[in-house]
Amino acid sequence: MNKFNIAIDGPAGAGKSTVARLVAEALGFVYVDTGAMYRAVTWRVLQEGLTPEQTAEMIALTERIELRLVPGENGQQVFVDGIDVTREIRSREVTSHVSRVSSIPEIRRLLTAKQKELAKDKGVVMDGRDIGSQVLPDAELKVFLTASVRIRAERRFRELGGAQQGMSLEQLEQEIARRDKMDEQREASPLVKAPDAVLIDSSAMEIPEVVERILDLCRTRVGGGS
Ligand code: C5P
Repeated sequence: MNKFNIAIDGPAGAGKSTVARLVAEALGFVYVDTGAMYRAVTWRVLQEGLTPEQTAEMIALTERIELRLVPGENGQQVFVDGIDVTREIRSREVTSHVSRVSSIPEIRRLLTAKQKELAKDKGVVMDGRDIGSQVLPDAELKVFLTASVRIRAERRFRELGGAQQGMSLEQLEQEIARRDKMDEQREASPLVKAPDAVLIDSSAMEIPEVVERILDLCRTRVGGGS
């Protein structure tokens, strides 16, 4: 089958990573979680104890960092300078700082270059916020996956095992809404639906249905995935 690229963008908790991983599996493509890259840089920034004003240091650190994404059984493993940070990058602390770190244009430029490189041979399903608009503007298929804030919070709450991270559903909803706002309003490549992206609202859809819809789009629009 011919290879092509798929860009999946959307707000936090819309189910992008699960959907992207399953679509990649079905097509025999590589899944790239770009949120994990921003999270990995944020984890490193926090490790170094950098303050929000130390932008130059954050950029220098992003330049130096050795970032590796390894496809695994349960999703993608993430390594920073050889350390497995797959779990750590999902912590509440990283989650609450990641939008600030990812709003720094130079950090975005560095990670965007890495992402383009990963997709250059095609056969990639990449999810994030600016994939269809900035990273892979020529992707053969672009999807903007969304759902209501409440539904996204409920899904995330279940995913995190209820109040395990010490957050109530309401707090989680507020946290997601805050992150949406920061991602949508930042100046450097904000979260936006590319004009040629297909909008899928998954509020009333189950994951397999969304995956099937995207595989259908591959067949009808790109002529792949049969
Ligand atoms: O997808 P995930 O929720 O893991 O992304 C974490 C954060 O990384 C987002 O809230 C956003 O601030 C940032 N991000 C981004 N551009 C991307 C992917 C993620 O700015 N392409």
